[in-house]
Amino acid sequence: MTDFEDRVAVVTGGASGIGAAVAATLASRGAEVAVLDLNPGADGFRCDVSDDAQVRAAIEAVAERHGRIDVLVNNAGIGAQGDVTANDDEEWHRVLDVNVVGMARVTRAALPHLRRSDAAVIVNTCSIAAWQGLPGRALYSASKGAVLALTLAMATDHLPDRIRVNCVCPGTADTPWVGRLLDSAADPEAERAALEARQPMGRLVTADEVAHAIAYLASPAAASTTGTALAVDGGMYGLRPRGP
Ligand code: NAD
Repeated sequence: MTDFEDRVAVVTGGASGIGAAVAATLASRGAEVAVLDLNPGADGFRCDVSDDAQVRAAIEAVAERHGRIDVLVNNAGIGAQGDVTANDDEEWHRVLDVNVVGMARVTRAALPHLRRSDAAVIVNTCSIAAWQGLPGRALYSASKGAVLALTLAMATDHLPDRIRVNCVCPGTADTPWVGRLLDSAADPEAERAALEARQPMGRLVTADEVAHAIAYLASPAAASTTGTALAVDGGMYGLRPRGP
């Protein structure tokens, strides 16, 4: 498929997990892809989304190298564990700064370029944590709730610019992030089996499945879709748990 031919896509957090799968998927469908990441790999752009100067410099470097920006995938994000008492102010500011303000920063820098595109689109990586009271994820959930609200606000504000804005809400996706969480358990294999058993489909979502949903939202096939959130969660949000 070449529905991203002549299009330039920026993927934040594109060096690992979901972002890496998005970069590969968009490239396989014809896009020129620019990865912005803390550890971007050889062809990417080193950029901490919590640093405004780095973000502006990276976006300008992308525009200089590729000549345009049509697709922005705001995917970089970090986790936080615990209930509302578990994290101090510094940690709250750090996570919100990456997960929420980071999206605003990258969007702000990319908007002048997106406005010049005739197929401009933004996809934000949210989470079912925005919809569902996940245990022990207060700060992370607050950040993703803000991502959902930001997505809707951006979709409204940039309708006159003809920029579509949507988000995906993954459930538990099998990425290095989740791998690190499992590895920190006393028995990682048992922890993985228990995690899989809690999924309605009995398995984790793959990074490729999330990437295909993001590519769909970014593609001309979704030309009438803006201001939506698409769950890719194996039924985690919508289905009632099985059991006695
Ligand atoms: P990951 O840790 O495998 O990849 C995240 C990437 O983001 C890494 O390459 C990392 O270097 C980069 N990154 C982190 N902080 C950054 C910063 N300040 N500036 C630039 N880059 C930064 O994680 P993943 O599982 O692929 O998660 C990607 C996104 O998906 C996140 O927004 C996460 O909240 C979301 N998500 C993941 C899951 C899941 O189960 N894995 C579920 C729902 C939502």
